[in-house]
Amino acid sequence: MPKETHTYSNDEITIVWQPKLCIHSAVCALGLPQVFQPRERPWIKIDQATTEQIKAQVEKCPSGALSWIPNHPEE
Ligand code: SF4
Repeated sequence: MPKETHTYSNDEITIVWQPKLCIHSAVCALGLPQVFQPRERPWIKIDQATTEQIKAQVEKCPSGALSWIPNHPEE
C-alpha cells in the first residue's frame, strides 16, 4: 500500500483513500454526501451508509484514489 494512505473502516470493509491520486472531482461527495464530506475531518463518515452503498460509490471514483478492501477476506 502506498505510504500516504488513509483508511476508514466499518465492521465489513475498509475504504482506502490515496490523497495524491484524488483529482477532487467531487463524484463521491455528490453521489453519497452523507458519507463523503470534504470539509469535515475525518472527511469520510463510513457509518452513514450501508456497506453496499459505500462499495458502489467507491467504485465510481474516476481517479482510483478511493478503493475498498474486505476486512474478512476469508468469509
Ligand atoms: S470521487 Fe475520487 S477523485 Fe473524486 S473527489 Fe472523491 S476521492 Fe477524489
